[in-house]
Amino acid sequence: MNYFHKKSVEDVDVQGKHVLVRCDFNVPLDENGNITDTGRIDSSMPTIRYLLDRHAKVILCSHMGRPKGQYNPKYSLAPVAVYLSQVLGQKVEMADDVVGEHAKSMAAALQDGQAMLLENVRFCQGEEENDPDFAKTLASMAEIYVNDAFGAAHRAHASTAGVAKYIPAVCGFLMEKEITIMGQALSNPKRPFIAILGGSKVADKIGVITNLLDKVDTFMIGGGMAYTFMNALGYSIGNSICETDKLELAKDLVAKAKEKDVKILIPLDNVIGEKFEKDTPCRVVDSDQIPEGWMGLDIGPKTVAAYTEALQGAGTIIWNGPMGVFEWEHFAGGTLGVAKAVAESGAISIIGGGDTAAAVEHAGLSDKMAHVSTGGGASLELLEGKVLPGIACLNDKD
Ligand code: AMP
Repeated sequence: MNYFHKKSVEDVDVQGKHVLVRCDFNVPLDENGNITDTGRIDSSMPTIRYLLDRHAKVILCSHMGRPKGQYNPKYSLAPVAVYLSQVLGQKVEMADDVVGEHAKSMAAALQDGQAMLLENVRFCQGEEENDPDFAKTLASMAEIYVNDAFGAAHRAHASTAGVAKYIPAVCGFLMEKEITIMGQALSNPKRPFIAILGGSKVADKIGVITNLLDKVDTFMIGGGMAYTFMNALGYSIGNSICETDKLELAKDLVAKAKEKDVKILIPLDNVIGEKFEKDTPCRVVDSDQIPEGWMGLDIGPKTVAAYTEALQGAGTIIWNGPMGVFEWEHFAGGTLGVAKAVAESGAISIIGGGDTAAAVEHAGLSDKMAHVSTGGGASLELLEGKVLPGIACLNDKD
């Protein structure tokens, strides 16, 4: 699939037209319903502003949480409408429903250069089922569909894919940026190309490793998944997290990498803890010295130094998954060290969303990266080489 050939919002005439814009406004809220991180809304602002500046009638649409097809005030997008009104400097009203009378009459009354917000699209059963009638009704409110919700592009839902059957469908600027940067790295990377993979499980990353085996020069492994690789290579790993059913697969991946001349770097040392607890006693040991009863909870300083050195000459880096239990201070050093090394590498650095993006943000290093993806699940599926329904449904350039 060639993602570079998708039409963008700049390829269509939007003046005076009703434009349905699918965004990812699934932002975190505190117990009082205040938005605690507006990042996802902010990242769709260029698309929204572009459309308003060109006098489109903008109908914004998003999901929030998992209300499972039922109205639930906890997941209302009302706080998003308040924030949108503040940043756009115009009152953005939210409809009480998604495709009901209120939404339809509000859409019909929209003026050129005005925006409105539909209520949480997942309040409707037809959304996650990608029900054709629901998708058709949603599409009937607009003349053009813009998908800017990269974070939901791996879902074949009515508002992320289904609507594209009924009206011209193009990508927004955020979507375009995500697929261009990641597509470029995967199809024509500046070399050396290094993939840093961490997180808890090998099982979640098998697809990524398999797809990247033919593309990268080096894998750097950290996080819980490193211990399955280390065990497969004959190390004693104590009580470290290990997927025994994936040991053969790990051996196989190491052998395949060797055949293809792809390096796989595993931790040289580890910060180990006695228990899986925040304040458990901890110390640093080499990878062949993990005692019985202890568990590896972070990569150690020698590993950070070795990975830092290897990252210095990189052309492209893709990083998905923390190097340790970065949520706990004693085991955050590896992830922080690697984040600094990636930031200072001079490479085209792409951070998969989710935990890795959160760790980089926490370290104050987001601005130093070429791209921090807004979609954890979606970017993982792109790295796996999968076709994402929310992108595949968009019109190709002529
Ligand atoms: P994932 O959801 O697979 O990306 O994994 C992220 C989670 O992996 C984070 O919550 C980390 O705390 C956890 N993690 C990282 N390293 C380890 C480790 N060595 N042992 C157990 N969990 C880990």
